[in-house]
Amino acid sequence: MSIPKQRIAVDMDGVLADVYTQFIRMHREETGEELQKESLLGLLEEDAFPYHDQHVNSDGFFRNAPVIQDAPEVLKALNEWHEVFIVSAAMEYPNSLREKHDWLSNHFPFITWKQIVLCGSKSIICADIMIDDHFKNLDNFKGRTLLFTQPHNQNAKANHHTRVGSWKEIEKLLLG
Ligand SMILES: [Mg+2]
Repeated sequence: MSIPKQRIAVDMDGVLADVYTQFIRMHREETGEELQKESLLGLLEEDAFPYHDQHVNSDGFFRNAPVIQDAPEVLKALNEWHEVFIVSAAMEYPNSLREKHDWLSNHFPFITWKQIVLCGSKSIICADIMIDDHFKNLDNFKGRTLLFTQPHNQNAKANHHTRVGSWKEIEKLLLG
């Protein structure tokens, strides 16, 4: 294969884990109200979901989050060629550490513990490529940046980042 081997930092929430579906599900259980993704466009998660802090700190929020479509298959293929690290600013929610580890073991068993970076600020991260759904993580990264589309960033200009709407698009970009 002629593709150069790269070190790739892959975010969890909003890139591997479908936290929007999880927030919407918990909001429904809490209130009986069905939130539509279209009504959440342009809002950061903490502004879009009225029970954000309560839900994100609940047991099972991360452990039971659904997986984003095609992520396991494509990440497995990326992992066979590139050097993949899962990078999550998990210290924002300290109770999430165990749940995130277990969730990765469950859905991405080919990712070893050495490839899991649960951290505070991602400004410490040095790699060739970062895949993330938040500008705050991508803007200061010194490398190639892929912005994963989520409702909060959907209408924003991607600026110098490359917008990707699915794992299939990532596969095409990084594996050719
Ligand atoms: Mg994220």
